Amino acid sequence: MTARSVLVLNSGSSSVKYELLDPDSGTALADGIIERVADYGQALAAVFAALPSLDGLVAVGHRVVHGGRSFYRPTVIDDALVTKLDELAPLAPLHNPPALLGIAEARKMLPDLPHIAVFDTAFFHDLPAAAAEYAIDRDIAEQWHIRRYGFHGTSHRYVSEQAALFLKQPFSELNQIVLHLGNGASASAIRGGRAVDTSMGLTPMEGLVMGTRAGDIDPGIIMYLWRTAGMSVEDIETMLNRRSGVFGLGGEVDFRELHKRIETGDEAAQLAYDVYIHRLRKYVGAYLAVLCRTDVITFTAGVGENDAAVRRDALAGLAALGIELDEDLNSGADRGARRISAVGSPVAVLVIPTNEELAIARACVDLLAGAR
Ligand code: ADP
Repeated sequence: MTARSVLVLNSGSSSVKYELLDPDSGTALADGIIERVADYGQALAAVFAALPSLDGLVAVGHRVVHGGRSFYRPTVIDDALVTKLDELAPLAPLHNPPALLGIAEARKMLPDLPHIAVFDTAFFHDLPAAAAEYAIDRDIAEQWHIRRYGFHGTSHRYVSEQAALFLKQPFSELNQIVLHLGNGASASAIRGGRAVDTSMGLTPMEGLVMGTRAGDIDPGIIMYLWRTAGMSVEDIETMLNRRSGVFGLGGEVDFRELHKRIETGDEAAQLAYDVYIHRLRKYVGAYLAVLCRTDVITFTAGVGENDAAVRRDALAGLAALGIELDEDLNSGADRGARRISAVGSPVAVLVIPTNEELAIARACVDLLAGAR
Protein backbone atom coordinates (compact mmCIF):
# COMPACT_ATOMS: atom_id res chain seq x y z
CA MET A 1 0.00 0.00 0.00
CA THR A 2 1.39 3.44 -0.89
CA ALA A 3 1.77 5.76 2.05
CA ARG A 4 -1.13 8.11 2.61
CA SER A 5 -0.75 11.70 3.74
CA VAL A 6 -2.77 14.48 5.34
CA LEU A 7 -2.14 18.19 4.90
CA VAL A 8 -2.66 20.10 8.16
CA LEU A 9 -3.24 23.83 7.93
CA ASN A 10 -3.22 26.32 10.77
CA SER A 11 -4.35 29.64 9.33
CA GLY A 12 -3.75 32.43 11.83
CA SER A 13 -4.09 36.18 11.76
CA SER A 14 -0.54 36.79 10.55
CA SER A 15 0.72 33.41 9.33
CA VAL A 16 -0.29 30.13 7.77
CA LYS A 17 1.50 27.09 9.21
CA TYR A 18 1.37 23.87 7.23
CA GLU A 19 2.55 20.34 7.57
CA LEU A 20 2.14 17.43 5.19
CA LEU A 21 2.47 14.21 7.11
CA ASP A 22 1.95 10.50 7.06
CA PRO A 23 -0.68 9.88 9.74
CA ASP A 24 0.34 6.27 10.17
CA SER A 25 4.07 6.62 10.78
CA GLY A 26 3.86 10.22 11.99
CA THR A 27 6.59 11.22 9.54
CA ALA A 28 6.52 14.86 8.44
CA LEU A 29 6.90 15.02 4.64
CA ALA A 30 7.01 18.82 4.46
CA ASP A 31 6.31 21.70 6.78
CA GLY A 32 6.70 25.41 6.94
CA ILE A 33 5.18 28.76 7.72
CA ILE A 34 4.06 31.57 5.45
CA GLU A 35 4.41 34.79 7.46
CA ARG A 36 2.91 38.27 7.18
CA VAL A 37 -0.20 36.97 5.46
CA ALA A 38 -2.37 39.64 3.89
CA ASP A 39 -4.02 37.60 1.16
CA TYR A 40 -4.99 34.02 2.03
CA GLY A 41 -5.22 33.04 -1.64
CA GLN A 42 -1.59 34.00 -2.13
CA ALA A 43 -0.58 32.37 1.15
CA LEU A 44 -2.21 29.07 0.20
CA ALA A 45 -0.69 29.25 -3.29
CA ALA A 46 2.72 29.60 -1.60
CA VAL A 47 1.95 26.57 0.61
CA PHE A 48 1.03 24.42 -2.39
CA ALA A 49 4.08 25.62 -4.33
CA ALA A 50 6.29 24.47 -1.44
CA LEU A 51 4.74 21.01 -1.16
CA PRO A 52 6.16 17.89 -2.79
CA SER A 53 3.85 15.51 -4.64
CA LEU A 54 0.32 15.31 -3.29
CA ASP A 55 -0.03 11.67 -4.37
CA GLY A 56 -1.66 9.78 -1.54
CA LEU A 57 -3.20 12.92 0.03
CA VAL A 58 -6.44 11.78 1.66
CA ALA A 59 -7.62 14.86 3.55
CA VAL A 60 -6.87 18.41 4.59
CA GLY A 61 -7.13 19.00 8.32
CA HIS A 62 -7.80 22.56 9.47
CA ARG A 63 -7.10 23.74 12.99
CA VAL A 64 -10.10 25.79 14.09
CA VAL A 65 -9.63 27.53 17.42
CA HIS A 66 -13.23 27.95 18.57
CA GLY A 67 -15.97 25.39 18.10
CA GLY A 68 -18.46 27.12 20.41
CA ARG A 69 -20.86 24.80 22.21
CA SER A 70 -21.92 22.78 19.19
CA PHE A 71 -18.72 21.63 17.54
CA TYR A 72 -16.25 19.40 19.23
CA ARG A 73 -15.89 16.32 17.10
CA PRO A 74 -13.66 16.55 14.04
CA THR A 75 -16.16 17.56 11.35
CA VAL A 76 -16.14 17.39 7.55
CA ILE A 77 -16.40 20.94 6.28
CA ASP A 78 -19.28 21.83 3.98
CA ASP A 79 -20.96 25.15 3.19
CA ALA A 80 -23.39 24.76 6.10
CA LEU A 81 -20.53 24.26 8.57
CA VAL A 82 -18.70 27.29 7.20
CA THR A 83 -21.83 29.40 7.79
CA LYS A 84 -22.10 28.14 11.38
CA LEU A 85 -18.41 28.73 12.06
CA ASP A 86 -18.81 32.23 10.65
CA GLU A 87 -21.48 32.86 13.28
CA LEU A 88 -18.98 31.90 16.01
CA ALA A 89 -16.50 34.57 14.88
CA PRO A 90 -17.45 37.04 17.65
CA LEU A 91 -16.35 34.44 20.24
CA ALA A 92 -12.86 34.24 18.68
CA PRO A 93 -12.43 37.39 16.60
CA LEU A 94 -8.65 37.05 16.34
CA HIS A 95 -8.64 33.35 15.46
CA ASN A 96 -11.71 32.01 13.66
CA PRO A 97 -11.95 34.54 10.77
CA PRO A 98 -8.42 33.79 9.46
CA ALA A 99 -9.06 30.04 9.81
CA LEU A 100 -12.20 30.46 7.68
CA LEU A 101 -10.26 32.38 5.04
CA GLY A 102 -7.69 29.58 4.92
CA ILE A 103 -10.46 26.98 4.69
CA ALA A 104 -12.13 28.83 1.80
CA GLU A 105 -8.93 29.05 -0.22
CA ALA A 106 -7.88 25.46 0.47
CA ARG A 107 -11.33 24.16 -0.54
CA LYS A 108 -11.02 26.08 -3.82
CA MET A 109 -7.63 24.53 -4.49
CA LEU A 110 -8.49 20.99 -3.47
CA PRO A 111 -12.24 20.76 -4.08
CA ASP A 112 -12.38 16.99 -4.38
CA LEU A 113 -10.75 16.11 -1.07
CA PRO A 114 -12.43 16.06 2.34
CA HIS A 115 -11.55 19.13 4.42
CA ILE A 116 -11.92 18.47 8.12
CA ALA A 117 -12.16 20.96 10.97
CA VAL A 118 -10.48 19.97 14.22
CA PHE A 119 -11.37 22.21 17.13
CA ASP A 120 -8.99 23.51 19.77
CA THR A 121 -11.86 23.64 22.24
CA ALA A 122 -12.94 20.01 21.67
CA PHE A 123 -11.16 18.28 24.54
CA PHE A 124 -12.81 20.63 27.01
CA HIS A 125 -16.38 20.51 25.69
CA ASP A 126 -17.65 18.47 28.61
CA LEU A 127 -15.83 20.16 31.46
CA PRO A 128 -17.88 19.71 34.64
CA ALA A 129 -20.26 22.64 35.05
CA ALA A 130 -18.52 23.70 38.27
CA ALA A 131 -15.36 24.33 36.26
CA ALA A 132 -16.96 25.55 33.02
CA GLU A 133 -19.35 28.18 34.37
CA TYR A 134 -18.40 31.71 35.37
CA ALA A 135 -20.11 33.09 38.46
CA ILE A 136 -21.86 35.86 36.56
CA ASP A 137 -25.52 36.67 35.84
CA ARG A 138 -26.88 33.38 34.53
CA ASP A 139 -29.26 34.87 31.96
CA ILE A 140 -26.52 36.98 30.43
CA ALA A 141 -24.12 34.04 30.39
CA GLU A 142 -26.70 31.90 28.59
CA GLN A 143 -27.77 34.55 26.13
CA TRP A 144 -24.20 35.30 25.11
CA HIS A 145 -22.80 31.75 25.38
CA ILE A 146 -20.32 32.79 28.05
CA ARG A 147 -18.53 29.84 29.65
CA ARG A 148 -15.04 28.44 29.88
CA TYR A 149 -14.37 26.71 26.56
CA GLY A 150 -10.63 26.07 26.96
CA PHE A 151 -8.06 26.00 24.14
CA HIS A 152 -4.95 24.03 23.10
CA GLY A 153 -7.25 21.02 23.53
CA THR A 154 -5.63 19.05 20.73
CA SER A 155 -2.30 19.37 22.53
CA HIS A 156 -3.68 18.60 26.00
CA ARG A 157 -5.40 15.48 24.67
CA TYR A 158 -2.39 14.29 22.65
CA VAL A 159 0.12 14.89 25.44
CA SER A 160 -2.02 13.26 28.12
CA GLU A 161 -2.56 10.20 25.90
CA GLN A 162 1.19 10.03 25.25
CA ALA A 163 1.84 10.34 29.00
CA ALA A 164 -0.35 7.29 29.61
CA LEU A 165 1.51 5.35 26.88
CA PHE A 166 4.84 6.43 28.35
CA LEU A 167 3.84 5.25 31.82
CA LYS A 168 2.23 2.10 30.36
CA GLN A 169 -0.94 2.81 32.28
CA PRO A 170 -4.52 3.15 31.03
CA PHE A 171 -5.47 6.72 30.10
CA SER A 172 -8.79 6.12 31.85
CA GLU A 173 -7.10 5.49 35.20
CA LEU A 174 -4.63 8.37 35.38
CA ASN A 175 -5.09 11.76 36.99
CA GLN A 176 -2.97 14.26 35.12
CA ILE A 177 -1.89 17.87 35.04
CA VAL A 178 -0.67 19.07 31.63
CA LEU A 179 1.25 22.33 31.37
CA HIS A 180 1.32 23.52 27.73
CA LEU A 181 3.86 26.35 27.84
CA GLY A 182 4.47 27.88 24.41
CA ASN A 183 3.90 31.44 23.32
CA GLY A 184 0.34 30.78 24.36
CA ALA A 185 0.19 28.83 27.61
CA SER A 186 -2.45 26.80 29.35
CA ALA A 187 -2.84 24.22 32.09
CA SER A 188 -5.34 21.41 32.34
CA ALA A 189 -6.48 18.94 34.96
CA ILE A 190 -7.53 15.55 33.57
CA ARG A 191 -9.22 12.91 35.69
CA GLY A 192 -9.38 9.43 34.24
CA GLY A 193 -9.07 10.70 30.67
CA ARG A 194 -11.64 13.48 31.05
CA ALA A 195 -10.64 17.14 31.28
CA VAL A 196 -12.06 18.52 34.52
CA ASP A 197 -10.52 22.01 34.47
CA THR A 198 -8.45 24.23 32.25
CA SER A 199 -6.94 27.67 32.56
CA MET A 200 -8.13 29.30 29.34
CA GLY A 201 -11.70 30.50 29.27
CA LEU A 202 -14.19 32.12 26.93
CA THR A 203 -11.12 33.23 24.99
CA PRO A 204 -7.46 32.18 25.03
CA MET A 205 -6.68 35.21 27.21
CA GLU A 206 -7.41 33.72 30.63
CA GLY A 207 -5.10 31.84 32.91
CA LEU A 208 -1.32 31.58 32.83
CA VAL A 209 1.03 34.44 32.01
CA MET A 210 1.97 33.97 28.33
CA GLY A 211 4.47 35.36 25.84
CA THR A 212 2.44 38.50 25.10
CA ARG A 213 -0.86 37.85 26.93
CA ALA A 214 -1.60 38.80 30.50
CA GLY A 215 -3.60 35.73 31.52
CA ASP A 216 -5.72 36.27 34.65
CA ILE A 217 -6.33 39.88 35.58
CA ASP A 218 -8.93 41.67 37.67
CA PRO A 219 -11.72 42.56 35.18
CA GLY A 220 -11.86 45.87 37.03
CA ILE A 221 -8.65 46.83 35.21
CA ILE A 222 -10.52 46.83 31.91
CA MET A 223 -13.26 49.14 33.13
CA TYR A 224 -10.71 51.38 34.80
CA LEU A 225 -8.65 51.73 31.60
CA TRP A 226 -11.75 52.34 29.53
CA ARG A 227 -13.37 54.82 31.89
CA THR A 228 -10.40 56.62 33.42
CA ALA A 229 -7.48 56.22 31.03
CA GLY A 230 -9.72 56.75 28.01
CA MET A 231 -8.50 53.63 26.20
CA SER A 232 -10.86 52.11 23.62
CA VAL A 233 -11.93 48.47 23.74
CA GLU A 234 -9.58 47.79 20.81
CA ASP A 235 -6.68 49.52 22.62
CA ILE A 236 -7.28 47.42 25.73
CA GLU A 237 -7.65 44.20 23.74
CA THR A 238 -4.41 44.87 21.86
CA MET A 239 -2.59 45.70 25.07
CA LEU A 240 -3.80 42.53 26.81
CA ASN A 241 -3.08 40.29 23.82
CA ARG A 242 0.08 41.73 22.34
CA ARG A 243 1.83 43.95 24.88
CA SER A 244 1.36 42.04 28.11
CA GLY A 245 2.66 38.83 29.63
CA VAL A 246 6.39 38.18 29.70
CA PHE A 247 6.85 40.68 26.88
CA GLY A 248 4.85 43.38 28.64
CA LEU A 249 6.83 43.03 31.85
CA GLY A 250 10.28 42.13 30.53
CA GLY A 251 10.38 43.23 26.89
CA GLU A 252 11.02 39.69 25.58
CA VAL A 253 8.84 36.85 24.39
CA ASP A 254 11.60 34.32 23.97
CA PHE A 255 12.65 32.64 27.21
CA ARG A 256 16.19 32.10 25.89
CA GLU A 257 16.60 35.89 25.66
CA LEU A 258 14.85 36.42 28.96
CA HIS A 259 17.35 34.15 30.74
CA LYS A 260 20.29 35.94 29.14
CA ARG A 261 18.98 39.26 30.39
CA ILE A 262 18.34 37.87 33.87
CA GLU A 263 21.98 36.76 33.99
CA THR A 264 23.08 40.33 33.31
CA GLY A 265 21.05 41.52 36.31
CA ASP A 266 18.13 42.94 34.29
CA GLU A 267 15.39 43.59 36.87
CA ALA A 268 12.52 43.83 34.38
CA ALA A 269 13.42 40.43 32.93
CA GLN A 270 13.66 38.97 36.44
CA LEU A 271 10.25 40.37 37.37
CA ALA A 272 8.69 38.94 34.19
CA TYR A 273 10.11 35.53 35.02
CA ASP A 274 9.02 35.70 38.66
CA VAL A 275 5.44 36.68 37.78
CA TYR A 276 5.32 33.89 35.17
CA ILE A 277 6.53 31.26 37.63
CA HIS A 278 4.30 32.49 40.45
CA ARG A 279 1.17 32.14 38.28
CA LEU A 280 2.25 28.72 37.04
CA ARG A 281 2.73 27.48 40.60
CA LYS A 282 -0.70 28.79 41.59
CA TYR A 283 -2.31 26.72 38.84
CA VAL A 284 -0.34 23.60 39.74
CA GLY A 285 -1.49 24.00 43.33
CA ALA A 286 -5.08 24.58 42.28
CA TYR A 287 -5.15 21.50 40.06
CA LEU A 288 -3.56 19.31 42.73
CA ALA A 289 -6.54 20.27 44.89
CA VAL A 290 -9.06 19.80 42.05
CA LEU A 291 -7.76 16.29 41.33
CA CYS A 292 -7.17 15.21 44.98
CA ARG A 293 -4.81 12.52 43.71
CA THR A 294 -2.38 13.43 40.93
CA ASP A 295 -0.39 10.72 39.16
CA VAL A 296 1.53 12.72 36.61
CA ILE A 297 2.45 16.29 35.70
CA THR A 298 3.62 16.80 32.10
CA PHE A 299 5.36 19.78 30.55
CA THR A 300 5.01 20.45 26.83
CA ALA A 301 5.37 23.08 24.04
CA GLY A 302 8.33 25.41 23.38
CA VAL A 303 9.02 26.56 26.94
CA GLY A 304 7.78 23.40 28.66
CA GLU A 305 9.89 21.10 26.47
CA ASN A 306 13.09 23.16 26.49
CA ASP A 307 13.35 25.33 29.57
CA ALA A 308 14.71 23.31 32.50
CA ALA A 309 14.74 26.37 34.79
CA VAL A 310 11.02 26.95 34.30
CA ARG A 311 10.28 23.31 35.09
CA ARG A 312 12.51 23.37 38.18
CA ASP A 313 11.11 26.62 39.53
CA ALA A 314 7.50 25.67 38.79
CA LEU A 315 7.76 22.58 41.00
CA ALA A 316 10.49 23.51 43.50
CA GLY A 317 9.83 22.75 47.16
CA LEU A 318 6.78 20.54 46.59
CA ALA A 319 8.22 17.31 48.03
CA ALA A 320 5.60 17.45 50.78
CA LEU A 321 2.98 17.22 48.00
CA GLY A 322 4.71 14.23 46.43
CA ILE A 323 6.53 16.09 43.67
CA GLU A 324 10.30 15.66 43.43
CA LEU A 325 12.38 16.42 40.36
CA ASP A 326 15.67 14.78 39.50
CA GLU A 327 17.70 17.83 38.54
CA ASP A 328 20.11 15.83 36.37
CA LEU A 329 17.25 14.37 34.36
CA ASN A 330 15.54 17.77 34.24
CA SER A 331 18.56 19.58 32.86
CA GLY A 332 19.82 16.70 30.68
CA ALA A 333 20.25 16.90 26.93
CA ASP A 334 17.49 14.42 26.07
CA ARG A 335 14.78 15.95 23.84
CA GLY A 336 12.25 13.16 23.48
CA ALA A 337 9.47 12.03 25.81
CA ARG A 338 11.15 11.59 29.16
CA ARG A 339 10.70 11.33 32.91
CA ILE A 340 12.32 14.06 35.00
CA SER A 341 11.01 13.14 38.44
CA ALA A 342 13.21 11.49 41.05
CA VAL A 343 12.97 7.74 41.56
CA GLY A 344 10.30 7.31 44.21
CA SER A 345 8.57 10.63 43.56
CA PRO A 346 4.88 9.74 44.12
CA VAL A 347 3.91 12.09 41.29
CA ALA A 348 5.67 11.30 37.99
CA VAL A 349 6.89 14.40 36.17
CA LEU A 350 7.33 14.07 32.41
CA VAL A 351 8.35 16.15 29.42
CA ILE A 352 6.48 15.15 26.28
CA PRO A 353 6.90 16.99 22.97
CA THR A 354 3.50 18.02 21.68
CA ASN A 355 2.53 17.31 18.09
CA GLU A 356 -0.75 19.01 17.29
CA GLU A 357 -0.31 18.43 13.55
CA LEU A 358 -0.04 14.67 14.00
CA ALA A 359 -3.02 14.67 16.35
CA ILE A 360 -5.06 16.61 13.75
CA ALA A 361 -3.92 14.30 10.93
CA ARG A 362 -4.89 11.23 12.96
CA ALA A 363 -8.24 12.78 13.87
CA CYS A 364 -8.86 13.23 10.12
CA VAL A 365 -8.10 9.64 9.13
CA ASP A 366 -10.05 8.31 12.12
CA LEU A 367 -13.04 10.35 11.03
CA LEU A 368 -12.74 9.07 7.46
CA ALA A 369 -12.50 5.52 8.79
CA GLY A 370 -15.64 6.10 10.84
CA ALA A 371 -13.86 5.72 14.14
CA ARG A 372 -15.02 9.04 15.60
P1 ADP B 1 3.51 28.57 19.86
O1 ADP B 1 2.62 28.81 21.02
O2 ADP B 1 3.71 29.76 18.99
O3 ADP B 1 3.26 27.27 19.12
P2 ADP B 1 5.91 27.23 20.85
O4 ADP B 1 5.25 26.12 21.57
O5 ADP B 1 6.70 26.92 19.64
O6 ADP B 1 4.92 28.42 20.53
O7 ADP B 1 6.86 27.99 21.90
C1 ADP B 1 7.63 29.07 21.49
C2 ADP B 1 8.39 29.60 22.69
O8 ADP B 1 9.17 28.56 23.24
C3 ADP B 1 9.42 30.67 22.35
O9 ADP B 1 8.85 31.96 22.34
C4 ADP B 1 10.43 30.54 23.48
O10 ADP B 1 10.04 31.36 24.56
C5 ADP B 1 10.28 29.10 23.91
N1 ADP B 1 11.46 28.30 23.57
C6 ADP B 1 11.75 27.69 22.43
N2 ADP B 1 12.94 27.06 22.51
C7 ADP B 1 13.42 27.28 23.75
C8 ADP B 1 14.60 26.91 24.47
N3 ADP B 1 15.54 26.15 23.92
N4 ADP B 1 14.72 27.32 25.74
C9 ADP B 1 13.76 28.08 26.31
N5 ADP B 1 12.64 28.47 25.69
C10 ADP B 1 12.47 28.08 24.44
